[in-house]
This record gives sequence, C-alpha cells and structure tokens, in this order.
Amino acid sequence: AARAASDPTYDGLRLSGLTKSFGGGFTAVDALDLDVPKGSFFALLGPSGCGKTTTLRMVAGLETPTSGSIVLGGNDITYAKPYRRPVNTVFQSYALFPHLDIFENVAFGLRRRKSAQVKEKVEQMLELVELTEQSRKKPAQLSGGQQQRVALARALINEPEVLLLDEPLGALDLKLRRAMQIEIKRIQTEVQQTFIHVTHDQEEAMTMADTVAVMNAGVIEQMGAPAELYENPRSTFVANFLGQSNLISGTVVSRAADVVTVEMHGIQVSVPTGRTHVDGDQGWVGIRPEKVLLGEPGEQLDAPGNTIPGGVITDVSFVGVSTQYLVRMPWGQELQIFEQNTGRRRMFASGEKVELSWRPEYAFLLDQSQDAT
Ligand code: ATP
Repeated sequence: AARAASDPTYDGLRLSGLTKSFGGGFTAVDALDLDVPKGSFFALLGPSGCGKTTTLRMVAGLETPTSGSIVLGGNDITYAKPYRRPVNTVFQSYALFPHLDIFENVAFGLRRRKSAQVKEKVEQMLELVELTEQSRKKPAQLSGGQQQRVALARALINEPEVLLLDEPLGALDLKLRRAMQIEIKRIQTEVQQTFIHVTHDQEEAMTMADTVAVMNAGVIEQMGAPAELYENPRSTFVANFLGQSNLISGTVVSRAADVVTVEMHGIQVSVPTGRTHVDGDQGWVGIRPEKVLLGEPGEQLDAPGNTIPGGVITDVSFVGVSTQYLVRMPWGQELQIFEQNTGRRRMFASGEKVELSWRPEYAFLLDQSQDAT
C-alpha cells in the first residue's frame, strides 16, 4: 500500500519529507521519510552532526521544520506547541530540580496538571525504575545512573505516546552505561510506549533498540533490525559504522542465480546473491573480522569456503574475550581478524604466515560505483 503522509489508520509516528534548513542554505535534515511503529524501541544512530538531534527536536516541537510533516497516531502535529504534543524528552543533562526530592521531581508533571492519585502514580513509577528507597533524597545524593532513572520516571509519568531520549547515557561511565542500557530496555518492554533513542554509539543502539535507523548527512542510509543491519549492510557507511568491516576491492566475473563470483587481487571468491547489492562490476567484498578463520598455510579451515593465502600477521592484541589480529595481505591491505579466546587453539604470533578462510554466506558485496570510500 502507498504511504500517505497523513494516514488516520497509521497509529505510529510518521515523518514525511521532513526537512530542516538553517541559515546559509545548510540542510541538517533532508526530506526524511520515516515510520516509527507504535510501541517500538527505535534508535536513530549516526555520527556527530548527521541531524539526529535536529530530527528529535522537530518531533518534540522545539524546532520548526522548513518543510514536511510530523503525524502521530493520525494527528498532524507538525506545528503544534511542544506542550500540546503527547511527547516527552529525556536529555543527557537530566534537568532535575535540585531543591525537590525524588518523589517531588517525579510528581512534578502530575501536580502541574492537577492530576488525581499523585501518590499512587509516583510510587508506581518509582517502583518501575527501582528507586522506591530513594524517594526522599535530593538528586545530588544519587548516582548518575539513579538520576537518569529519575529523569526517565519523570517523563514516563506523563504517559507520553512517544518518549524521546537524546543521548541519555552520555554522561555515564562505560560500565554504568551498559547496565542502564539493559535497564531502559526492561522499562520500555514493561510500559510498551514508543521510545526514540538518539545516539552515536552503535553498540548502544544495537543493544537497546528493536529497529535502528542509520543516519548520515541528513538522510537515513538504512533501517532495520540490529542483526539485519549488521549482517546485511547496504552501503560502506553502514558497514563501517556498525561494527568493523574488512572491505576488499574486487571485480564481478560471473553471476549465477544464487552466487556471485568476484575476483579480488587475483583470487576468486563467491558471495551469495541474497546478500549482494551490486549493479556494476566493481564491488567491495565485505567480511566481518569475527567471521574469518585464521589458519596455517594449507590448512583450509573453512573448506569448501573461500580461502585467501599469503597473509602475514603484523599485530596481535590480546583483549580478553578475543584476540585481535592485523594481517597484511599480498596486495598490501591490512585486514582485521578477531578470534574468540576459547583456549582451544594456539595464538598466532607477529610475523607468522597465515591463510584466511570464510564461508561464502558470511560475506556481503557492496556497489563501489554508488559509494565513494
Ligand atoms: P550531535 O550528536 O553532535 O548532536 P547530531 O547528529 O545530533 O549531532 P544535529 O545536532 O542535528 O546533529 O546537527 C546537524 C547539523 O545541523 C550540524 O551540522 C549542526 O551544526 C547544524 N545545526 C544544528 N542546529 C543549528 C542551528 N540552530 N543553526 C545552524 N546550524 C545548526
């Protein structure tokens, strides 16, 4: 079915042709078309300056679009005042009231709207974010992660249709970030409201969201479930932004129904057609570092897979769960290979000769003509 900008039957958030240009003709968000299904945990992921925050601010009503529309649950809210939208935002800075205790911080929105059953609702929220014990403390007496949960409770108590999270974990250290990612995901599963999370951290987006939209220079490059984006990137930008990729230049020499044969630096490899996005002859064979097996010359570990001989280890980094190798290939390119430390294989040393192998279905092929890297 065609996608109408204003469709009363679509209950999610629909952005259509959403554009924001600033003075000097600079377009921060460029004709964005985006559907965020109701109840989903959606991440807007991209590098600094790609337009994520501007998009979020337009949804919140803090920025007026240059053109396009924002329709939520069938209602056009493009020009609605921020407080008239069923949308709340949690910022990285938390913006808690320092003089109010946790209970009153969370109660704030309800009191302002003269809502009934304040005590009951606040207690329920504090339980949800596991801060019942802290309710009479002041924000300054809480840890960063706890303050973040107060900010979340304060936004959720208003029962917004959409909760916007703008880099909400940016101020936390790595360990706490990881814990909070899982915590926020648990809360979203419980409340079932639509969450839109803005981040430049790909691991964070993939951990938390059920759908990730990768944004680059004002447009969405690709959107999908985390595993789908990771396994099937459609551009070198997505391949490199989500995790690490080895991209090896090659020429398509033949195409069959289920497999494309690519010659890269004199070696032929096969890539399944289901995962290729190449119209021309020049492509990038993409292979993730953890999908490659390192073997001694002639070992053919993943036979009947692709085997690439002639590598030399140039760097070995032991990082606990894995060992990360750099391998210089005969054509001069250095590839990254991650090996899980199961303890079942010996580690390779710098200077050792190795061959690489991988199963065809692990590789993907990208169009070189469409995409300058
Ligand atoms: P970050 O993660 O660094 O916040 P972002 O992806 O959220 O980046 P935006 O904040 O949306 O990016 O900014 C997108 C672009 O628009 C940037 O180049 C920024 O400099 C520009 N921009 C944002 N706000 C304004 C403004 N008020 N006036 C002019 N340019 C702006």
